[in-house]
Amino acid sequence: MSIMKYAPEALKNLFRPPVTTKYPFEPAVYPEGARGHVEIEIDNCIGCGMCVRACPCGTLSVDKNAGTWSIDRFDCIACGYCVEKCPKKCLSMIQGYQTPGAKEGQVTYTKSPEQLEKERIQREEAAKKAAAAKAAMEAKKKAEAQAAAAAPAAPAEEKPAE
Ligand code: SF4
Ligand code: SF4
Repeated sequence: MSIMKYAPEALKNLFRPPVTTKYPFEPAVYPEGARGHVEIEIDNCIGCGMCVRACPCGTLSVDKNAGTWSIDRFDCIACGYCVEKCPKKCLSMIQGYQTPGAKEGQVTYTKSPEQLEKERIQREEAAKKAAAAKAAMEAKKKAEAQAAAAAPAAPAEEKPAE
């Protein structure tokens, strides 16, 4: 095969701009329909774990008490199931990729201190309400038992003479 066969194309390429881009030093242009990557509005997450159960790759984890949500981006296939399943709509597919880096793909998001404090107060109030409701129920049962014990016994039915 003659090298002359490729010479016209090689000459044309001398005057064309490069087909590659300088990402990440220049913004990348994403094709239409590109799924991008998953992002979370962590303060809206209720820690229900629906996304964790929906993920086919087992790449998500959530800790409700600590207020954290984690994803291993190297394992994520950007299928979007977690986004579909989230009842709070706090997950979304964002066009574009994460900043390149040499570290592991595991990323953990933590709720803001204000949100954690708000949730702590809500939990305390809910626990107080539950305790009050339980105490009221026990008091009601006790009063009903006392009333039943204090009521006069019904007279025994007389048997008809044989
Ligand atoms: S996009 Fe798919 S693979 Fe990635 S975290 Fe969500 S469910 Fe898992
Ligand atoms: S489904 Fe949504 S609300 Fe539930 S744990 Fe996942 S991100 Fe949080």
